[in-house]
Amino acid sequence: MIDKPYREQLEIKKAYVNQQLKGYCSVDGVIGMAEPYYYRNKVHVVLSREKARGGKKGKIAAGIYEEESHRVVAVKNCLLHDRYADEIIESIVDIMEKGRFEPYDEDRGTGNIRHILIRRGHVSKETMVIIVTGTKVFPGNKNFTRELLKRHPDITTIVHNINDKKTSMVLGQNQRVLYGKGYIHDILCGLKFCISPKSFYQINSAQTEILYGKAMEFAGLTGKESVIDAYCGIGTISMVASRYAGTVTGVELNSDAVRDAKINARLNNVENVKFYNDDAGAFMEKINEKPDVVFIDPPRSGSTDKFLSSLIRLSPKKIVYVSCNPETQRRDLKRLIHGGYKAEKACAVDMFPGTGSVETVVLLSQKEGRRLSESIIRP
Ligand code: SAH
Repeated sequence: MIDKPYREQLEIKKAYVNQQLKGYCSVDGVIGMAEPYYYRNKVHVVLSREKARGGKKGKIAAGIYEEESHRVVAVKNCLLHDRYADEIIESIVDIMEKGRFEPYDEDRGTGNIRHILIRRGHVSKETMVIIVTGTKVFPGNKNFTRELLKRHPDITTIVHNINDKKTSMVLGQNQRVLYGKGYIHDILCGLKFCISPKSFYQINSAQTEILYGKAMEFAGLTGKESVIDAYCGIGTISMVASRYAGTVTGVELNSDAVRDAKINARLNNVENVKFYNDDAGAFMEKINEKPDVVFIDPPRSGSTDKFLSSLIRLSPKKIVYVSCNPETQRRDLKRLIHGGYKAEKACAVDMFPGTGSVETVVLLSQKEGRRLSESIIRP
């Protein structure tokens, strides 16, 4: 995708979204970026040592796995990555080569450092470096930290995360802070957010502001509504919605993200939001009070039958469905439409220029007939 002119990328994505939403609603276009480069505020690379050649030790490669293989393809100066994050990665590789820190080799069980993850506040420029080791220990971490800070004194925090499992996940359960507070702050939609290593945060901040703006426009809040923000992450949509709603309840499975969300409400003196740590489906099953508006922003796999059937039972007036995967969104829309909703309108935002992914927002409202029959049942 990245080799195609940007206009063409947007046309391809528009056709894809319309194909997925066919029969329900459509988009006029995909909202793109003026400068579709260097937007990723989260940069991840996997490390490996290249094979020895001609009696010479191979170099350390920092990059991505080749498709369907375990070979790492070095990525330097990626057009999508935050540029400073890529500079830090180059420094880390140099520190590793000079300081005899070895990349982790899953097959042979040698070395330590497995991944590098960098997160950088789009507005704050605060920078978090996470060193993921494939071993429980990280020998020489004090020297490593000292050397990295000497080269990049503006790094805000450095975290050591342990991932010794055979998994495609980048981060493991256990971690400890090597330097700084262990989290960073950023400003999004004029609000301050605390982001810790394992919490989800949208990777393209400029486009996220447009996305959330569209979600709010679709919700049409008037200041009185009770709102649910399902799959709320660190509470970004909740906090933006809290400005226009009566009350907002956020629910999220990841306990670190919920802790961040609670801190974020306090940081911004927002008093009409509450956050719960639960599976969104299990949470919806427990509530009886009908919300006016429900935002849903599930992971790529989409929502669940448990969640969607509870949502239909609770019958909010409006559902604003934000998705990073139009295919699972289509499946879930089908279920909601079958349950008495109609898709009113949709829009698409290019959160991921240079890749095949696209973000969509769909507004659903109750079908007329359903409201009528409900009012007959409950006069
Ligand atoms: N709305 C947020 C987060 C969207 S990403 C934002 O815009 O930043 C999807 C979120 O759903 C992630 O934070 C993930 O941890 C969470 N999640 C995944 N499965 C879940 C489940 N079963 N119940 C609740 N939250 C879940």
